Amino acid sequence: MIPANETYLLNRVQNKGSETLASYREHGGYVAIEKILKENTPFDQVIEELKDSGLRGRGGAGFPTGLKFSFMPDPEKDPRPRYLAVNADESEPGTCKDRILLREDPHGLIEGILIACRAIRAEAAYIYVRGEYRKEYNNLFAALAEARAAGLVGKNIAGSDWSCEIWMHKGAGAYICGEETGLMESLEGKRGHPRPKPPFPAGFGLWGQPTTVSNVETLFNVPFILNRGARWFRTMGTEKSPGNILCGISGHVERPGVYEVPLGISTRTLIEEYAGGVWKGRKLKAFFPGGSSTGLLPASAIDTPMDHDGMKDAGSMLGTAALMVLDETACTVRAMEVVARFYDHESCGQCSQCREGTQWLYQIFRRLENGQGRVEDVELLDSLAHGMAPGKTICALADAAAIPTHAIVKNFKDEMMEHATLGRCPLSHDHSTKEKREPAEAGA
Ligand code: SF4
Repeated sequence: MIPANETYLLNRVQNKGSETLASYREHGGYVAIEKILKENTPFDQVIEELKDSGLRGRGGAGFPTGLKFSFMPDPEKDPRPRYLAVNADESEPGTCKDRILLREDPHGLIEGILIACRAIRAEAAYIYVRGEYRKEYNNLFAALAEARAAGLVGKNIAGSDWSCEIWMHKGAGAYICGEETGLMESLEGKRGHPRPKPPFPAGFGLWGQPTTVSNVETLFNVPFILNRGARWFRTMGTEKSPGNILCGISGHVERPGVYEVPLGISTRTLIEEYAGGVWKGRKLKAFFPGGSSTGLLPASAIDTPMDHDGMKDAGSMLGTAALMVLDETACTVRAMEVVARFYDHESCGQCSQCREGTQWLYQIFRRLENGQGRVEDVELLDSLAHGMAPGKTICALADAAAIPTHAIVKNFKDEMMEHATLGRCPLSHDHSTKEKREPAEAGA
């Protein structure tokens, strides 16, 4: 599998004015939704095409998209209003791939939303956009206005009897609002506290109505699949993870950026060919394959395929395919201290395992890095992480902190022990540098 380097997701973004309706139309835009409406394609047929394509969600969990859409109740039996919530919060550290689609090709997302709404029989969609994405918000807002003026959003779309509204909402910068139930709470105007599941969003979502929550890149794939067919989609990627994916590469590489690659490509190809290799001629030490909540892997795992199964077999996850690279001069304990501080800060505090656990993880990683750690801290971290996840809390934030903790203990135990036995970070002797980086903590 993993055939030709055919690209489609980013093909339009290089065009001048790619964010405009005229440019999108020029490149075949809105053809799929117009065809569906003109031919009155049965709702189930759209969902079946998505199921056949094998498209998996690109927001981190990798759940099959067509199957998720099929969870919405039959409107004959359940006539409540229904909604689509679009997750454009993109708050997983290292992740910046939806951003390029929102900014450079917003009509592609709008068409994907329309097709998804049609398939799940929703007549309204709410896009939850990360607050810091100002340019992206403005471009999407302008694109929506253009589409509405052209009769592609709102009442009687493209002259049909089908209507669908799309609304936008700005987030205020909470990681937890990228979790689907926290996102819905926030959209309803409440604090973005995740809700216990069940009930699941398809039965009890926005304002208690059936709701499907889907990610930007996932929806962006939908018009391509409807235009070119499930079989074409399956010519890329692997059998269980078909299609292309946007991979955001950051950290110690020569050419960080967002790259479109087939799922299943090896991490080595991504780092060495797409990103130009580890910077400054240094060696690879470690990498987070899919954002900070995925397990840190050692350099020996460089040939792991970037897909759901490959990363799972290697003891990590594909996540959002946000590949973060650490070179040989980086300290993995320091990296985990930063990650643990993030999750401690972002825990909403509803679950004691997460509220207390994230705080303890951060404090222990911090003392290890600062030379005050103990040998027992290594096992203590692993044990704490066991107490937090999986499935012990309302949402997966606790897992997001626990998973990379398990991974560092498994893959970099020696380096952790070295911190404890030496009484300092073996790679950074000058702690005054750290204090300069963290003025707030230095004074704490
Ligand atoms: Fe809040 Fe953490 Fe519980 Fe999620 S796991 S609901 S972030 S306390």
